[in-house]
Amino acid sequence: MTQALLTLAEKYLVPTYARPPLVFTHGEGIYLYDDQGNRYLDFMAGIAVNALGHADPAWAQVVAEQAHRLTHISNLYHNEPQLLLAQKLVESSFADKLFFSNSGAEANEAALKFARKYARTHHGEGKTGIVAFSHSFHGRTMGALAVTHKARYREPFLPLVPGVTFAEYNDLAAAAAAIGSETCAVIVEPVQGEGGVHAAAPTFLNGLRQLCDQHNALLIFDEVQCGLGRTGHLWAYQALGVTPDMMSIAKPLAGGLPIGAVLVTDKVAAAIQPGDHGSTFAGGPLVCAAALHLFERVNQPTFLAQVQEMGAYLRHRLQTLECDKLVAARGLGLMVGLELNVPVADVVAAARHKGLLLVNAGENVIRFVPPLIVTRPHIDEAMEVLTLCLN
Ligand SMILES: *Cc1c(COP(=O)(O)O)cnc(C)c1O
Repeated sequence: MTQALLTLAEKYLVPTYARPPLVFTHGEGIYLYDDQGNRYLDFMAGIAVNALGHADPAWAQVVAEQAHRLTHISNLYHNEPQLLLAQKLVESSFADKLFFSNSGAEANEAALKFARKYARTHHGEGKTGIVAFSHSFHGRTMGALAVTHKARYREPFLPLVPGVTFAEYNDLAAAAAAIGSETCAVIVEPVQGEGGVHAAAPTFLNGLRQLCDQHNALLIFDEVQCGLGRTGHLWAYQALGVTPDMMSIAKPLAGGLPIGAVLVTDKVAAAIQPGDHGSTFAGGPLVCAAALHLFERVNQPTFLAQVQEMGAYLRHRLQTLECDKLVAARGLGLMVGLELNVPVADVVAAARHKGLLLVNAGENVIRFVPPLIVTRPHIDEAMEVLTLCLN
C-alpha cells in the first residue's frame, strides 16, 4: 500500500518537497500513526501548527458541527464566526482591526500592501522601501519571498518585489543604517523560526520601534510561528515588551485548518478602502469556528503557564544532554532550538526511524515545536530517543 502511494507521489506531484517514504493515516494527541501501524511522537506538530495535537475531540466536534451548518459564503457577506474571532483577536492584542487571510505568506502580503498604501496616503510617492533581516522567513509568495533572506529560496525567482533591504538581525546599528525616509515598513520575526530559532533582543525591537517612529515607517511583527501561545505568552511581542503597528499570525490559529490574519492599528486601517485587498476563502465560517475554539483553549492563564513550564523543562533537558556535538539549546516557551556543530539532517532522520518526528531550522539546528499540550512524560520519551540518535 505505502509503495503504491509513493509511486503516485513520484508520478503526480511537483517535486517541491523531499519527503521520507511515510504515509500517515491518523493521529491522536501528540502521536501520529503511519499506514504500517507504526507510532510516532510528534515534536514538530505540522511545523508549529497543531497546537492542540491531532484529532482533538472538542475541536473536531466544533468543526463537524460548523460543517453541517455553513462552510463558505465568500467575503461578500458577513458570517458570525469571523466577526466573533476578529473581536477576540483584536481585544487580546494591541490591534484595533484585522484582515483575514488563508496562510502566513498571505498575511504578510497583506501587511506589505497595507504599508505601501499607508505610506502613499500620508507621504506621497517614493516612500516604498521595506527593511527585513538576515535569516528571516516570511513565506513563499513573491512579496513574502522578497523579504525572506535565504538566497536559495529567492534567487531562482528573481525579480521579486523591489525595494527590499536586508540588515543583520539583532544588530541595531545595521538597522539604523538601513532604515531611512524612503522606508515604508520594517518586517521582523520577534522569534525567528525557520532561521534557526533566535529570539530578538528587547533592546533591538525597541530600537526598531524608535527608528520606525522617527522615519514614519510601520513596524510589522511576523508572529506566524511564534504567536498564539507558542512562547508561553499569548503573543511574543508581549513577552518582549515592544508593540508593532501590524502583526501577522497564522500557523496554529485554526488548530490545523488553513487560516491567517494581519492585525493592525486604526491608523493603518484608515488608509485601506473597499477594493484595496481581498480573498475568496479567507475568514470563512468553518475555519473561524475552529479558530474561535482554539483561541479559547489557548488563551487561558493555566494553559500558557503550562507551555512556559514545559518549555523550560525541555530546554533544561536539552542543555544537560551529554554529547560533544551540542553547541546551544535556546528559545522561548515551546519554540526551542538545539544547535549542533554538525548538520542535523542525519539526527532528524535517525529520530524518525526510532519514532520521533523533529524538524530542522537551517543546517545545524533541530527545532522542537511540539503540540502545546505536550507533557513531561512526552518530553522524557523524546529525550530518550534523541540521546540514542546523538551518540
Ligand atoms: C511558516 C511561516 C510563514 C509562512 O506561512 P505559510 O502559511 O507557509 O505561508 C511566514 N512567516 C513565518 C515566521 C513562518 O514561520
